[in-house]
Amino acid sequence: MTTLPIVQTGAAVLRGHAQNVPPEKIATPEFRELVQKMIATMREAPGVGLAAPQVGVPWRLIVLEDRPELIANLNDLEKREREREAFPVRVLVNPVLEPVGEERVMFFEGCLSVKGYMGLVERAREVKVTGLDEHGAPQTWQVRGWPARILQHEVDHIDGTLYIDRMKTRSFTTQEQGKALYGGKPIAEIRSLLGL
Ligand code: ZN
Repeated sequence: MTTLPIVQTGAAVLRGHAQNVPPEKIATPEFRELVQKMIATMREAPGVGLAAPQVGVPWRLIVLEDRPELIANLNDLEKREREREAFPVRVLVNPVLEPVGEERVMFFEGCLSVKGYMGLVERAREVKVTGLDEHGAPQTWQVRGWPARILQHEVDHIDGTLYIDRMKTRSFTTQEQGKALYGGKPIAEIRSLLGL
């Protein structure tokens, strides 16, 4: 499967409000090909989510997946704090997201469209998303922890928002340096080091 170039920050398509996918488009071969290419692009990057505007398509369409090999470099504390567990690929067409409860959590986040950087972002711990799958069947997913963070990040993309708009700016760093300085550390210690 061929992959698609990932649009980088600065491009207008990442800053617009994406349009709902018209229902009659969902079953078409072109739409299915786009979904398959987005999944292939996410896996190759590698990343845990991708929104259609990131491949230059202004539609409300996201794909997400977390794989064991992407989690393998985290220690048990990091996995536990992030509530991060692998989950199979999901496709959401025209997703609508709402937070569940009041609890918010802060962790580092990166983005394939802001290549090479990371920053701390506070997000809802738990969310509920509704939408359609790639065949047009209704979906509801209520989830907490890392998948909830990915969902919020990807739905932000289709509203023209990047994590850098939400991050604690004083935490902004390169992925290389962030890994060296903060890898393996409890989030409370990271926040204390950064005065957050
Ligand atoms: Zn992103």
